[in-house]
Amino acid sequence: MRIHLLSRNSLLYSTQRLFQAARQAGHEVEIFDYCALNVVFASSRPQLYYQQEALPAPDLVIGRVSPVYTPLGASLLDQYALLGTTTAPTADALLLARNKWRALGALSRAEVASPRTAMLSDLEQLDTIAEQLGGYPLVLKLLQSTHGSGVMLAPDRRTARSILDAFAGLHKGILIQEYIKESQGADVRAIVCGTRVVAAMTRTPASGEFRSNLHRGGTPQQTQLSERESLTVIRAARAVGLDVAGVDFLRSARGPLVMEVNASPGLEGIEGATGVDVARAIISYLTHCVTEAPR
Ligand code: ADP
Ligand code: MG
Repeated sequence: MRIHLLSRNSLLYSTQRLFQAARQAGHEVEIFDYCALNVVFASSRPQLYYQQEALPAPDLVIGRVSPVYTPLGASLLDQYALLGTTTAPTADALLLARNKWRALGALSRAEVASPRTAMLSDLEQLDTIAEQLGGYPLVLKLLQSTHGSGVMLAPDRRTARSILDAFAGLHKGILIQEYIKESQGADVRAIVCGTRVVAAMTRTPASGEFRSNLHRGGTPQQTQLSERESLTVIRAARAVGLDVAGVDFLRSARGPLVMEVNASPGLEGIEGATGVDVARAIISYLTHCVTEAPR
């Protein structure tokens, strides 16, 4: 089948792996920089263009959209859907996954447990909220953090206030979350394809760091999920509407607590740590979905 792979940089590990996996499975696959793609709405049918060139609509589009381009990526995915192309992810799922607050709402609706979290709009409410979350330390998160860059640990009220004060002026949404001590900063990343967990790894933070992101020096290691954990991550991906997802959770005393569901999970860390051909699993799952979808 014909596949478009949307990525700003065709040389990225994950882009290359998905490209090769699609080629090896016999598909006709092309990589496009989504910033140079356009859909023109003219007369009765929209038309897709790459720079000046008109392109026929593919059967499947895989969007690897960087967080800074989320709105652009979502509009493009919507437009592909209008052309009759199956999109992975859908525009709605991408937008939901990229907003930590709305994503936690979707998880809660699907009865997927996550750390207790509040959104603080009035600094005067800090003490009440801190108490409701079980006291300090507390984790503060920007709504649109990635690679752990917008995630901070506030050991006490004074630190929390000064961080919140600093961000108040920027008018960025900020979440306050209970700190899950017993996981000691380690989290689990599981790659879900539909109703299957294809690979899972723990990430242990570097010393002196509480964030386990690989971009922050975390160390990945293969792990086996319990049945409860598998059901949780599959349900989490479905709650956000993602067919393919990287689900992050903490192993807490009260079971798995899902922190976030990633729409474009990186493949390098997880393939390296587990030896699983995740790219092949993703391509095989998505192309199967296209073939099986009712026309
Ligand atoms: P990002 O989207 O930037 O990766 P996350 O919400 O995934 O942000 O947080 C980054 C890392 O910080 C997590 O992988 C985990 O190691 C740590 N962390 C985040 N929230 C908590 C929490 N509530 N308790 C303990 N550790 C946390
Ligand atoms: Mg994360």
